[in-house]
Amino acid sequence: MNTFGKASKVAVIGAGMAGSALARALMDEGAAVHLFDKSRGPGGRMATRRCAWTDAQRDARLTAFDHGAPCFSAQDSAFRAAVAQAVHAGCVTNWQPRLHPQSLPCPDAEQGSAHFVAAPDMTQWCRQLAQGAMPRWEQAVQGLRRTPRGWAVESSDVLWTDVFDAVVLALPPAQASPLLAPHQREWAQRASLAVMQPCWTTMAVSDATPGSHAWDLARPEPGALGLVLRNESRPGREARRDEVHWVLHAKAGWSRAHIDQEPAWIASAMQQALAEWLGAPLRWQHAVAHRWRYAMPHVGRHVVTPSGWWDGRLRLGVCGDFLGGGGVEGAWRSAHALALSMQGVAEPEVAEEAALAKEEFGL
Ligand SMILES: Cc1cc2nc3c(=O)[nH]c(=O)nc-3n(C[C@H](O)[C@H](O)[C@H](O)COP(=O)(O)OP(=O)(O)OC[C@H]3O[C@@H](n4cnc5c(N)ncnc54)[C@H](O)[C@@H]3O)c2cc1C
Repeated sequence: MNTFGKASKVAVIGAGMAGSALARALMDEGAAVHLFDKSRGPGGRMATRRCAWTDAQRDARLTAFDHGAPCFSAQDSAFRAAVAQAVHAGCVTNWQPRLHPQSLPCPDAEQGSAHFVAAPDMTQWCRQLAQGAMPRWEQAVQGLRRTPRGWAVESSDVLWTDVFDAVVLALPPAQASPLLAPHQREWAQRASLAVMQPCWTTMAVSDATPGSHAWDLARPEPGALGLVLRNESRPGREARRDEVHWVLHAKAGWSRAHIDQEPAWIASAMQQALAEWLGAPLRWQHAVAHRWRYAMPHVGRHVVTPSGWWDGRLRLGVCGDFLGGGGVEGAWRSAHALALSMQGVAEPEVAEEAALAKEEFGL
């Protein structure tokens, strides 16, 4: 057993929920964590974007949209405890959206699950978890090198002079795969075969219409849209009586069929789809589309036993939602499974986990 020392220096690549939760768990055990992310801060797919636009009065405006995961639920008792702590710390809050009367029910509704959102924006929980880690933002990691003294990280054409005792990839599988390939070919292949679903998202502002404030969330059955939410009605978000701040998610099939379309075309098609579904025209003030190539893992019939991949000989690890059953909870659970393996509390159950990966993803 090659366990992970308390004073180790670890590079975690990716500061979404998986990377931030892992950083927290390792720092709590005394490790020094360096957190690399290609974005300007933590959160990953728990994302909020501030859009600059000009309103009809020619005033410059800045409006925030939660354009990644809109919310999450908590099924597992350990994750529920972590959510309760985050609620206590004020960076997560309960959300009870009012459903549009013509909406499909929410997927978790039958289990009576509560919905949670991070506040005041979706990045906030990751930001809190990552506190104390050495951040390296806007660093797209392009390579990992094994040196006699440990791991070196190469990002955006910079080879950092720091050397790490261990390195962990907390990335969507398609982005982890090329970094793994020179060191762990089997994992690289498994990651490259994991199926992720895309999602086109449109962030838009319209004038309020009669009745538009009577509901917060809709899951339309027909048409292109999988989810419609009014961002300004969410806890702690900026609200104006005369405006609606829409976040529209296209269905996975529609997103895949239009994956290479221009964002302007997508925004217009999704605005039209909303007006058709509502049965009324909307007066639009602003709209922009964002493509998530890897929004959600395709999770099959069975719930994957959360796992992280840990190679104690190489001191190389992988975690993320695709190894945890999907979603924010899956990312957190995969990170915690990996932290246990790294600390030698549980040996990685490679054979069992490989069988599950085969069953779930056909790997
Ligand atoms: C539109 C949408 C809707 C969703 N809806 C829900 C929902 O309703 N409920 C739910 O639970 N979940 C939902 N999710 C999924 C949820 O957001 C994810 O499962 C979870 O946040 C994944 O966390 P992660 O840490 O595994 O990955 P990520 O959040 O993707 O984090 C990976 C990080 O790695 C960084 N990165 C990537 N490549 C590199 C590189 N080469 N170098 C450095 N950094 C890199 C990225 O910038 C990112 O910050 C949704 C996601 C999307 C996009």
